[in-house]
Amino acid sequence: MAGRLDGKVAVVTGGASGIGKACALRFAHEGADIVVADLDEERAHETVAEVKAAGRGSFFVRTDTSKHEDCEELAARVYSAYGRANALVAAAGISHALYVSGKEAAGPVSPEREASFIINKPIEYWEKVLAVNLTGVMYTNRAFARRMVEHAQGGSIVNIASGAAKIPIPGAADYCVSKAGVWMLTKTLALELAPRGVRVNAIGPGFIETPMTATARADEARGQQILSGIPMGRFGRPEDIANTALFLASDEASYFTGEILFPDGGLFTG
Ligand code: NAP
Repeated sequence: MAGRLDGKVAVVTGGASGIGKACALRFAHEGADIVVADLDEERAHETVAEVKAAGRGSFFVRTDTSKHEDCEELAARVYSAYGRANALVAAAGISHALYVSGKEAAGPVSPEREASFIINKPIEYWEKVLAVNLTGVMYTNRAFARRMVEHAQGGSIVNIASGAAKIPIPGAADYCVSKAGVWMLTKTLALELAPRGVRVNAIGPGFIETPMTATARADEARGQQILSGIPMGRFGRPEDIANTALFLASDEASYFTGEILFPDGGLFTG
């Protein structure tokens, strides 16, 4: 049976873990070759191995998405290997300045959240979150959008924002602002690129079972409290987001641009 991304090349930042990894594997099962960009070499190589086991080509490029040179190098490596990128999923992100995926995994709202209020938060924490979550997304979008336009092959960019793009969370202003910024970046870039055949959309996940939410889910009282606010009564799975990204990356979404979809089980409906 034909895959929905047969013959395509997709680049996934944050592809070593959680949502990015789920996107990499889902896209591979639909026929795409996958370039994994991440900081975490060990887990990125696991994603590459799983993509290859699914019968698709894959390689890893160590990339700090908050560094412009890294993003340019990533794009150069992809175009040197394939001569194109049909899709980019920008999933690399952090929930707060001290977050290290798979190690220190506290959610954006910590029990000590007053220490994270704007009036108390160290300036460098704010700068770090904005650098990774917003400027890093712009760097990757820019590096690939320029080449997609130059090569006149079209393309689809999918940015992983958050429900926090529309709902303020006390103690997580840096995260919320970064994700609201990704939403606006998505809309602006979509208008700039629409006449050039490149679509740009975003996803605003709800509360998803990944390392980013592991600490909150491990705390039973906190986990139950979050669960009780989700109308569908379950946390999201990384595959829920990968399915949404697959739709946006595929030709089925060929008339979508500048849009954000919120797979959140109703959490942020209002
Ligand atoms: P995750 O499992 O921690 O994955 C994030 C990945 O991004 C990790 O592999 C991490 O690498 C990588 N990364 C972090 N900083 C990077 C940088 N500067 N350059 C390159 N890679 C970097 O978390 P996740 O839940 O899948 O998060 C993926 C995206 O979804 C994030 O943008 C997050 O904000 C968003 N999101 C998540 C949820 C949720 O409930 N989980 C909800 C809404 C939005 P290291 O392991 O080396 O740090």
